[in-house]
Amino acid sequence: MHRAEPRTSEEPRPTLRRPAAETLPRVFDEVFVGDSELAALCRDHDWAATPLGPVESWPQSLRTAAAIVLGAGYPMILVWGPRLVQLYNDAYASLIGRKHPHALGMPTHECWPALREIQTPIFEAVFRGETVRIVDAHYPLDRFGVVEDAYFDATFAPVPLEGGGIGGSLSTLVETTDRVCARGLREDHARLEAETRLAETRAEQLLVERDAARGLFQTVLDQLPVAVVVAEAPSGRVLATNHAVSRIWGAQRPLTESIARYSTEWVGHHPDGRLVRSGEWPLARAVKHGETITDWVCEVERADGTRAMVEITASPVLDGQDRTVAGVAVIVDITIRVEAERERQRLVRELEIERARLAEIFRQAPAFLSVMRGPSHRIELVNDAIYELVGRRELLGRPFAEALPDLAEQGFVDLLDHVLASCEPFVAREMAITLGRTPGAPPEERFVDFVYQPLVEADGTCAGIIGHGSDVTEQVRARRDVELAREMAERARAEAEEANRVKGQFLAAMSHELRTPLNAIGGYAELLEMGVRGPVNEQQRSDLERIQASQKHLLGLISEVLSYAKLETGNVRYAIADVPVRDTLAAVEGFVAPQARAKGLALTIGAVEPGLTVRADPERLRQILVNLLANAVKFTDRGGSIEIRCSATEAHVRLSVRDTGIGIPGDKLEQVFEPFVQVPADPSRRSEGTGLGLAISRDLARGMGGELTVDSVVGEGSTFVLALPASLGTE
Ligand code: ADP
Repeated sequence: MHRAEPRTSEEPRPTLRRPAAETLPRVFDEVFVGDSELAALCRDHDWAATPLGPVESWPQSLRTAAAIVLGAGYPMILVWGPRLVQLYNDAYASLIGRKHPHALGMPTHECWPALREIQTPIFEAVFRGETVRIVDAHYPLDRFGVVEDAYFDATFAPVPLEGGGIGGSLSTLVETTDRVCARGLREDHARLEAETRLAETRAEQLLVERDAARGLFQTVLDQLPVAVVVAEAPSGRVLATNHAVSRIWGAQRPLTESIARYSTEWVGHHPDGRLVRSGEWPLARAVKHGETITDWVCEVERADGTRAMVEITASPVLDGQDRTVAGVAVIVDITIRVEAERERQRLVRELEIERARLAEIFRQAPAFLSVMRGPSHRIELVNDAIYELVGRRELLGRPFAEALPDLAEQGFVDLLDHVLASCEPFVAREMAITLGRTPGAPPEERFVDFVYQPLVEADGTCAGIIGHGSDVTEQVRARRDVELAREMAERARAEAEEANRVKGQFLAAMSHELRTPLNAIGGYAELLEMGVRGPVNEQQRSDLERIQASQKHLLGLISEVLSYAKLETGNVRYAIADVPVRDTLAAVEGFVAPQARAKGLALTIGAVEPGLTVRADPERLRQILVNLLANAVKFTDRGGSIEIRCSATEAHVRLSVRDTGIGIPGDKLEQVFEPFVQVPADPSRRSEGTGLGLAISRDLARGMGGELTVDSVVGEGSTFVLALPASLGTE
């Protein structure tokens, strides 16, 4: 087959017609020898149309090389000239597939453009005169319509030109693709084996890691404070649980077959007491129906029979395709929380009762209470006592000034403003307020004790005021009455004292004034009696004696009045000393003995401890005793008796004067000590005294730190007892 090769521009050559057959046989026979397919094709080829030009123009070296190629029984190719024109043999043709036959006479780079990069350095070396050998060289060849990997062992040998230089490259090729592929397969196999081993090792490692992860997972699960159960879907087979499950149920629970088993073992009660059915458990619903159940509460029975409240949340575990592969339940023991909540509710109920009770106490409190809030002092809370004070008015929810305008006028709003602004309490005692206590009633003065206490909020601000206090009007009035009465009594007492003092002064003055003329009467009567004015007859003497007796009596009376007046005005001085009792009694006995004898009365003095003394003013002591003895003589009828006795204790000396006289009625026993009081059984005796003797005696006894008392039975007699302080030592 003849095929014209396109001519290249850089190598212009004249188009040569193919030489006539008869003129060329010899050359062609020389070059393209044999009956091979390629020899025949070469002979037919229009070489003149190729860069090699007509065969006749070929150098000998080319001709020889071509002959070698065509004669070789193994794949050979000659690449010639700068354009690397190809000439090959039958064996080579079988290697290049569909590239044959037009590869013949074609420049190699045009035939194998994809191999340019591989071929160029080889041919450059060959054209430098080097022989290049390659082993299992990789050639991506398009031999059969697809590019495939082919491998070759090849030798590229330079073909010298006769005149020097290299004309081309003579190559022998052996395709080693099968060998290379076989080796590649072996290598692949070995690699696969290695990879398999690696994979196995990795798998083992993964198993170890998985077990470790499982262990870690279980450890983590067991340390969770909440109970966790993981079950497979849809079988319900339990895959994992943790310690907290056992803690809730109060017993170690083995990993059981299925949650159905758990369900039957775990007796649960709904909060309403109803039993939980097995299908109702949240985990069962999660694995069976893919449901998510949150905060499902029920009461379960523990192994020991006690009950626990649990809160269960269960949800399905989904795979990449959203299929439920498992379910997880988280169970929280809320027993303590529930009990705390119950306790809290119970306390809240108690608190409410207490609050209601307090509100009632507050309402009924006798003290008034009010709560006012905000700058207008809006009345928020009042109790009944407030209404008792201010009357039935509309108070709640109203500003103070509006609800109680009468109090506002009395400065209460200013007071409240001050407490609110200063946040300091205000305390009032018996503050007078004026209030109309019923609508239309005239204003009335009331007195109140109260405190305005600031109501301090948590942030320290003063939000309002608590007012508490009480209506003290009645107490204030009662106290004022008492004070008034006391004042009046005080005034009366002062007046009485003054009157008494004036009376004393008057009596003292009077006594003095009376005594002077009385002494004159006595003196002149005595002179007359002595006959200084002339002889006195018997009748005159008798009259003069009477005058003298009356003068003495009157003088005695005046002396008593004077000494009582002295006592009353507090002008008496006591000369206290240890007074011997026996001597004193002897002296007073001597003083009254003549009168007793004259009246036929027996007068005796009882035994007195020798040397006994008493703390007293001796003169005053004698005065008291004489007075007592004189009274005894005076109020004891003829034939009676009078006895003086003495008794002593460590603290006191008691001197008693006992008579068997007329006695004193029981209801008069105290009165006899009052001045000018006389208790006459017989009114005729009244003239005999002033009624001052006992009053003076008691005042003197008390003035010396003692006391004078009486005991008496009418018709039997009286006993007067004078008690005085005992002396500290004896004589
Ligand atoms: P006077 O003796 O001057 O009347 P007194 O003060 O000594 O005043 O006595 C007051 C009154 O007490 C007497 O008037 C008498 O009624 C009564 N009285 C005093 N001593 C006795 C007594 N020993 N027995 C009965 N009555 C007595």
